[in-house]
Amino acid sequence: MKTPIYMDYQATTPVDPRVLEAMLPYFSDTFGNAASRNHAYGWTAEEAVDKARQQIASLMGASPKEIVFTSGSTEGINLAIKGVAEMYGAKGKHIITSQAEHKAVLDTCMHLEKQGYEVTYLKPDKTGRTTAEDVAAALRDDTILVALMWANNEVGTVNPIREIGALCHEKGVIFFTDGTQAIGKIPCDVEADNVDIACLSAHKIYGPKGVGALYVRRRKPRVRLVAQMDGGGHERGMRSGTLNVPGIVGLGKACELCEQELEAEAKRAAELRDYMQELITSELDHVHLNGHPEHRLPNCLNLSFNYVEGESLLMGISDVAVSSGSACTSASLEPSHVLRSMDVGDDLAHSSIRFGIGRFTTKEEVEFAAKLVIENVKRLREMSPLYEMVQEGIDLSTVQWQAEH
Ligand SMILES: *Cc1c(COP(=O)(O)O)cnc(C)c1O
Repeated sequence: MKTPIYMDYQATTPVDPRVLEAMLPYFSDTFGNAASRNHAYGWTAEEAVDKARQQIASLMGASPKEIVFTSGSTEGINLAIKGVAEMYGAKGKHIITSQAEHKAVLDTCMHLEKQGYEVTYLKPDKTGRTTAEDVAAALRDDTILVALMWANNEVGTVNPIREIGALCHEKGVIFFTDGTQAIGKIPCDVEADNVDIACLSAHKIYGPKGVGALYVRRRKPRVRLVAQMDGGGHERGMRSGTLNVPGIVGLGKACELCEQELEAEAKRAAELRDYMQELITSELDHVHLNGHPEHRLPNCLNLSFNYVEGESLLMGISDVAVSSGSACTSASLEPSHVLRSMDVGDDLAHSSIRFGIGRFTTKEEVEFAAKLVIENVKRLREMSPLYEMVQEGIDLSTVQWQAEH
């Protein structure tokens, strides 16, 4: 086993060897520009792009004509939210989203607030979920867009997309969902799930970094977006720029593999995730599951460990590559905004760890990681006076702490 063991699959994934193989010819022999209409180099590239469009559309129940290529989900999110805001701004200036969204959504919304738009940031429930009822209560006559993620990248909670989408369609409001963590991992169908716009990113589904796609509904309703990148009018005028042909071929192949293997992969990941949770919670008490116990991704396990110091725990388990809700692993000093929005206290947020189970995760790796976590939590708790008091049956909430003079 090679350490550190990679368990940060929500941050990025390695390129699947089958994806790499599909991409390689497009860096060398078949290097044409997909927009070159006058010769075979261009036609071959265009054919490859068309095939990828088909593979991507198929994974999410869309039509190939509804796929717009991007550089990834951050760009897709910007294009979706700003594109809708600019196109429909005369109709209304109100947008609904959630506090648990990815920064790309939150920062884009804050940018629009500075331009005169009004944004409602719904507070999710304690599991990170936003319901259709929450959305219904926030809808206004001037609401033009609801932006809620399909599945959360930190805690794996899956939102009730179908119900939220149905509500939006009933009210004539456009519904955008950040599908980065969900599409390819759980069954997603933009028709059945009533989605108008959805983004995905290749590097989260075993494709290359720097390429993604945006689904934009063409009928019932036809969604229009103001382009955020002007130029040659590629991608039906929604996103100019020469297409990243090798990247797009890789994204297409990645989608095809996800579609073929989704069911088996989700089952295998969920089994490993539950096994890991079982290993840890059978040895340790005071472990909290962050996220929803049922409505969650099969490949994500986010746990907090009471009475241990987050940074010491992370250092202790450095043979496992994971992410934490703690401030020390992120660029900002704040603990995770997602955990905060779910009312997870700062102490628990600091000791939270996200374990990602990926396509290449083995049972052996799960056992190694679980053992390391158990050993380290036990070691740290042995040094914790608080944990000792709890073990003695003292209710910490009733303790009168001596003030310092
Ligand atoms: C990774 C991620 C993004 C950003 O995607 P990039 O392609 O890296 O820009 C957006 N939303 C979610 C939920 C993500 O997990």
